[in-house]
Amino acid sequence: MEVEMPNELAEKIFMISGQNVYACYQCGKCSAGCPFTDYMDLLPNVVIHKIQLRDERVLEAKTPWICAACFTCSTRCPRNLDISKIMEALRQITLRKGIDRIKLKKLEKIEELPTIALVAASRKLTG
Ligand code: SF4
Ligand code: SF4
Repeated sequence: MEVEMPNELAEKIFMISGQNVYACYQCGKCSAGCPFTDYMDLLPNVVIHKIQLRDERVLEAKTPWICAACFTCSTRCPRNLDISKIMEALRQITLRKGIDRIKLKKLEKIEELPTIALVAASRKLTG
């Protein structure tokens, strides 16, 4: 689907996630329901706002990596935005540059970690 976006970052997010950040009108319901905001440096609605403004510093934020893709925000959004897909798109932009968030080889006592945790970490945090 062809959709004109006013900025390149929003366009990239749309290409990866199918989500149009300009649908967001900053009601804050996503952030109000997110169970992980205590650990985030930007609230989910602020992440969306920064993409709208093409503030590339959002790519350095911790928030997309903390997001657990629990979909609470997505079920609350009155504009039907899937915010968890937007978080995933932000992660993908970094991972596709070859920048891994963790180095699996450097993990200590890797043999003691549950396989499912390793698979999940590998999928989410490495390209
Ligand atoms: S709930 Fe939806 S419309 Fe409201 S701030 Fe979050 S993304 Fe924007
Ligand atoms: S999907 Fe991510 S941003 Fe949305 S409520 Fe869950 S942890 Fe928060």
